[in-house]
Amino acid sequence: MREDYSLDAVKEIFTKFLVERKHRKTPERYAILERVYQYDGHFNAELLYKSMQNDYRVSLATIYNTLDLFLQCKLIVKHQFGDQIAQYEKTFGAATHNHMVCTICGRIKEFSDKKVGKMIQNKRFAQFDVSYYSLYLYGICKKCKVEREKAT
Ligand SMILES: [Zn+2]
Ligand SMILES: [Zn+2]
Repeated sequence: MREDYSLDAVKEIFTKFLVERKHRKTPERYAILERVYQYDGHFNAELLYKSMQNDYRVSLATIYNTLDLFLQCKLIVKHQFGDQIAQYEKTFGAATHNHMVCTICGRIKEFSDKKVGKMIQNKRFAQFDVSYYSLYLYGICKKCKVEREKAT
């Protein structure tokens, strides 16, 4: 993941990908890309779909198809937090971070840890090149813990 980026650079990657794969360069796809890169943090397809409705009449199917293209050219990553619906996140401009997922309420908190990052970066795998990482910690958030203690 890279923290320095410009939207133009992101669009360029996407254009190259579309040309290579012989996909059409539709204005909707670029509009969706711009919207996706306005999100800081996680979003899901429904949320993105709703936010697009004022400017573009894109269907939810188009949203899903386009997100799939972004995934293929690694402009976004997909998260599956437990049994929640899939969440997406941009890759450029987002610092490498990890996720803490509450298994009761589903709340997600992000955290970074330089030590963990260094450890993973320094790790060498014989048959694998690491491009980025993300850890998921599952547990119980403070709010749920307090509520559970109240209940007992
Ligand atoms: Zn995240
Ligand atoms: Zn919770």
